[in-house]
Amino acid sequence: MNILLLGSGGREHALAWKITQSAKCSKLFVAPGNAGIGKIATNAAINPTDFNAVKQFVLSNTIEMVVVGPEDPLVKGIYDYFKNDSDLANIPVIGPSQQGAQLEGSKEFAKQFLVKNNIPTARYQSFTKDTVNAGHDFLTTLKPPYVLKADGLAAGKGVLIINDLTEAQQELSNMLVDAKFGDASSKVVIEEFLDGIELSCFVLTDGKSYKILPTAKDYKRIGEGDTGLNTGGMGAVSPVPFADDAFMQKVEERIVKPTISGLKTDEIAYKGFVFIGLIKVGNDPFVIEYNVRMGDPETEVVIPRIKSDLVELFEAVASQTLDQAVLEIDERTATTVMMVSGGYPEDYEKGKLITGLDQVENSIVFHAGTAEKDGNIVTNGGRVLAITSYGNNFKEALAQSYQNVEKINFDKKYYRTDLGFDL
Ligand code: ATP
Repeated sequence: MNILLLGSGGREHALAWKITQSAKCSKLFVAPGNAGIGKIATNAAINPTDFNAVKQFVLSNTIEMVVVGPEDPLVKGIYDYFKNDSDLANIPVIGPSQQGAQLEGSKEFAKQFLVKNNIPTARYQSFTKDTVNAGHDFLTTLKPPYVLKADGLAAGKGVLIINDLTEAQQELSNMLVDAKFGDASSKVVIEEFLDGIELSCFVLTDGKSYKILPTAKDYKRIGEGDTGLNTGGMGAVSPVPFADDAFMQKVEERIVKPTISGLKTDEIAYKGFVFIGLIKVGNDPFVIEYNVRMGDPETEVVIPRIKSDLVELFEAVASQTLDQAVLEIDERTATTVMMVSGGYPEDYEKGKLITGLDQVENSIVFHAGTAEKDGNIVTNGGRVLAITSYGNNFKEALAQSYQNVEKINFDKKYYRTDLGFDL
């Protein structure tokens, strides 16, 4: 069948890499794709949130399945757009309905869902402009640090963690009254700070049953030792060594099962990936956040560890027969090291020539921000390439990734050399 994948990053390259390995895939189109994706699939210059353009493309290229990489089209309702259009209704969209996407699109919706389903999460209250004074009072009942979250999507910048009470109260006013994050902060969730170590759990669901995919841990900060500014992610490791069987048993019983049954009870259509951001406090898991798609760079380590045919799994999701599908996992560890443009996540230049890609051995190179120019591959974003390797443990896999990172060059390349330091 012909498949359309929406998105353009390392996550989409990893998904495209896996989808094109399936005998069920005759032709894969990726919109808009990138230079690496263009080597294994056909890039299509379409904006994934322009649903009318997506529709025209789907119909003129006899697309039989749409896989959604990023959250934006999901939060904007692409699943429902297909369901409500008689020309598209029979074409499965791998992703949740707009209501399901609220698990990521609204932090308050997610917190209400967690509480309603008795899923462990930080204690919270939410506030608007009209209740800003109550918000100031609520902060005085909490211990520092104070966690303030803009309700809506704020490009990963809407969460503030502040040590000082007065400063936290001031920031709450900035968010609610002065619209610090625009509409996204017209509501703010204030929650208790949880002290622990973070990891991510990925689930594929058809809305009735589920498969738990490999766990992963990403490294968000730009600097060594996880310091400095937040990024989209500087690398990742799968599996997570501290997420042992006993811990994952708790994750399944306390978090995954009630999440899926909560979706069912509320009749929320959900046929896609659930990314559960977890924090391990002592030996217990708590939910920090839901995302309604795979993570990036976690996808670049999770997908390479799936042995089963991904398109067959997606078909089972579409027909709600996932309970009968088999998920086979590669026991090896996978790691990825993200190579970024110097200056990222602040200002950086694009268009730098990338060399050495043909020297890479025993790693998979997933392109994130790249473009093709005059027959060359050049940088085209902050995060440029993800270098994924397998190993018997994370040290071995990382050593392999780093060996290949050394061989690839572009002006002002930067990467973290300490991934896995906390494992
Ligand atoms: P992301 O960029 O991960 O999608 P986001 O903007 O959706 O982030 P969250 O994941 O909810 O927001 O929070 C961002 C980060 O803030 C978390 O990864 C975690 O490190 C920290 N954090 C959030 N909530 C808490 C909490 N209750 N206790 C401790 N740390 C927290």
